Amino acid sequence: MPLTACPVFIDGEWDAIRDVGTSPVFNPSRGDTIAEVPMCGADVVNNAVEAAAAAFPAWRDTPAIERARLFFRYRQLIEENFDRICESVSREHGKTLAEARGSVYRGIENVEYACAAPTLLMGDTLENLARGVDCETMHQPLGVCVGITPFNFPAMVPMWMFPLALVCGNTFVLKPSEKVPLTVVILIELLEKAGLPKGVLNVVHGGRECVDALLTHPKVKAISFVGSSPVAKYIFETGTHHGKRVQANGGAKNYIIVMPDADVMRTVEALSTAAFGCAGERCMAGSTAITVGKAADYVLPSLVAAARAIKVGPTDAKTQPDMGPVITAQHRDRVFSLVASGEKEGAKIIADGRDVRVPEAPNGFYMGATIVDQIQDDMTLAREEVFGPVLNVMRMEDLDHAIEVANKSAYGNGTAIFTNSGKAAREFKNRVKAGMVGINVGVPATMAMFPFTGWDESFYGDLHIQGKEGVQFYTQQKVVTTRWFGEGVGDVWKK
Ligand code: NAD
Repeated sequence: MPLTACPVFIDGEWDAIRDVGTSPVFNPSRGDTIAEVPMCGADVVNNAVEAAAAAFPAWRDTPAIERARLFFRYRQLIEENFDRICESVSREHGKTLAEARGSVYRGIENVEYACAAPTLLMGDTLENLARGVDCETMHQPLGVCVGITPFNFPAMVPMWMFPLALVCGNTFVLKPSEKVPLTVVILIELLEKAGLPKGVLNVVHGGRECVDALLTHPKVKAISFVGSSPVAKYIFETGTHHGKRVQANGGAKNYIIVMPDADVMRTVEALSTAAFGCAGERCMAGSTAITVGKAADYVLPSLVAAARAIKVGPTDAKTQPDMGPVITAQHRDRVFSLVASGEKEGAKIIADGRDVRVPEAPNGFYMGATIVDQIQDDMTLAREEVFGPVLNVMRMEDLDHAIEVANKSAYGNGTAIFTNSGKAAREFKNRVKAGMVGINVGVPATMAMFPFTGWDESFYGDLHIQGKEGVQFYTQQKVVTTRWFGEGVGDVWKK
């Protein structure tokens, strides 16, 4: 059977680009290729940006309430097609259906937030700034905005971007990850069905060449990026160098501090979900547990038992596993070699998922839940983002030392503490160096109304994705100062 060629969407038309190289899209549960994605170059990108630029004036002038109504209809269509979207996320990414559902709901919340646009776009006014002078702020769209997204959330991360950008009055070009381009096709077909005007949103596919064409195109005004830190830094530097506004979310290494007074079973449950949920392929994965004092003795036995009990298997099967595969065979091999480096550098593997076998899907990209104890902060495994189902364990004497070690990380995305002490939690919350902090919450990924606030190498830019900062990112402010010369004012000059 011929493979599905993933189409681009430009000026309201779906088109299979045939004269460029392609990249395979896998079903990681089975290891087979399910589609080919075109690796578009500058000419295709130019067509998409020009279509978005041409559609901008009419879309900008569409009343905000009408733009919002498109997304009310869109939300309904997503609900009606919810299972289809989740199955697609699961098929091309390998998330379990439960994980896919959770992620699509997070996307829906962003659509709901965008529906509040008429309120979000309201400005401020001050009457009588000076005698007879009033002042007001207006939030106006930027023009053509671009979204470049990673593989790990095929629906949610694109939905962090285009609903808010569009409702704010911008037009958009989306470049999804070439590893998971198929769910976006469903999302945009539904947006078309909801009434998307031609050219307002366009989709292109590809890798670096495609991204470079977007970063340097003179008609692109702003770039939203989510992906690994080296690429985020490159996007920020190149985009800003070419005069674009850029928000670029990068990778992470998130620490969870476990105090000896923490509730043991709740902490074990949260650590297991934080480390092994979505097979560890989350920028908010809790990838390192720092146990303080006797906490290791309390939580590790149950945590190891929980990790060993996690059933790994294909996520496209009727009976759902607890954990699916990682994205590619190459990525699994990288995770294996990072675990091996930990062993070589003196750490101790206390739950080893490297030899997991899945007889019903022998070619899938599987790895079981793995826990590596006695990690020291100079080990490769301690420093590099693993992005697989691997939990590091570090043991510290006290909270001060634990915070000091967590704060040495080059990243600063999320972190959490498990404790029953308000004093320890307060100390942690104030001193820890990360943008999103959980207190007895394992993965404190923010919801649509709050900004997704990475720090340090987890974020390049000023205004974060989501929430009010998202609205600020997708708009520019105009301050209008007004005076009307009536009879009274004019009379001053006549005298
Ligand atoms: P990636 O950086 O490899 O790719 C992200 C996007 O950039 C893709 O669309 C890809 O095509 C493009 N790209 C890749 N290499 C490029 C290059 N050299 N030049 C230009 N463009 C390039 O990331 P990924 O592997 O798809 O996703 C996983 C990463 O994303 C992890 O590091 C994870 O922590 C991060 N992530 C961060 C957040 C966040 O909000 N901070 C959220 C999700 C994922």
